[in-house]
Amino acid sequence: MEAIRIEGVTKVFGGTVTALDGLDLEIRAGELFFLLGGSGCGKTTLLRCIAGLETPTSGRIYFGDNDVTEMAPHKREAAMVFQSYALWPHLTVGQNIAFGLEERKVPKKEIKERVAAALEMVQLAGYGERSIDQMSGGQQQRVSLARALVVKPRCLLLDEPLSNLDAQLRVEMRREIRRIVKENGLTGIYVTHDQEEALAMADRMAVLSWGKIGQVGTPEEVYRSPLDSYVAGFIGETNLIVGKVLQIDGATCLVDAGGTILNGRVTSPGWQPAVGDEATVSIRPEVWRLHKDGGDNEISGKITERSYLGQRIEYFVETKVGSQQVVEMNPHVIHEPGDEVLLHAKIGDVVVLRK
Ligand code: ATP
Repeated sequence: MEAIRIEGVTKVFGGTVTALDGLDLEIRAGELFFLLGGSGCGKTTLLRCIAGLETPTSGRIYFGDNDVTEMAPHKREAAMVFQSYALWPHLTVGQNIAFGLEERKVPKKEIKERVAAALEMVQLAGYGERSIDQMSGGQQQRVSLARALVVKPRCLLLDEPLSNLDAQLRVEMRREIRRIVKENGLTGIYVTHDQEEALAMADRMAVLSWGKIGQVGTPEEVYRSPLDSYVAGFIGETNLIVGKVLQIDGATCLVDAGGTILNGRVTSPGWQPAVGDEATVSIRPEVWRLHKDGGDNEISGKITERSYLGQRIEYFVETKVGSQQVVEMNPHVIHEPGDEVLLHAKIGDVVVLRK
């Protein structure tokens, strides 16, 4: 188990592309940590710097107290799992897993035992003699996990490991990967585009933007208290409404959005709103309520679209502040497109952010 510390890491490719920009990050020993962010924000580059497959242009990387910035990848005790599995098609399952141990000149008897143990860990005991092309996509991803685990790494680096699997298998493998990381006391760093995967699996996560950290926190912190509208829009669905600060009242803030007054919490400790500042109000679809009685942040609107999704219904409601996405769980009343409704949202669930 190993804590990982990234200090001021910058990576510039070809003298012009800054993939990482003075990035600081601390990943705790034994946590499953997610790196998220839009395409090209530097997630894979950061993972590759941690693995030793790229060298930072400047800055340092520490595993525990050891500075590993210049250390060769195989000496770091970090194993990587790729989206493409990167398995050898002409070798059997067992030979694929044994490969790294043979390179390290581990005795034959020990290799046999460790391959069997790794196969058991990923629930593929007895599959060692099979050829890779006889394995399904999900099984191949388990083999690549076993191959990473067999070298007894202290950290496991996962680059979109589930994106080639179908939806059902992805959900099953989420639990598996979390179990493997926790049972083996590994520090896991996981890159994904899939924010639902991150919310479901992560102990903590970082949202990256242009090679910098946008926010670090637990899934709940990042979802409920985003620091800016980029993070709010990136993690989960949200309705973003732009306006001007009208009044500040302790930790809550009134925003005038073109004549509609909205009230919510300020979640960014780095932002002290002043009257007249531009602000963005973030209201999650499940935070909007559709009740005749109304409540805080009340707005009238007309339903334009409805999707019935079993235990929840998703609506789009046209209002003075734009079209609002609304999700109702276990609804008692089902509205029809064209219905006039009143939307409202509790002040504590509405977030006011710097524009
Ligand atoms: P994605 O989600 O699309 O995989 P990412 O967040 O993983 O993106 P990176 O692959 O880390 O992003 O890329 C960050 C930036 O660095 C991009 O602008 C990319 O084009 C650039 N980049 C990455 N690798 C190289 C390379 N070897 N040479 C030149 N530029 C590179």
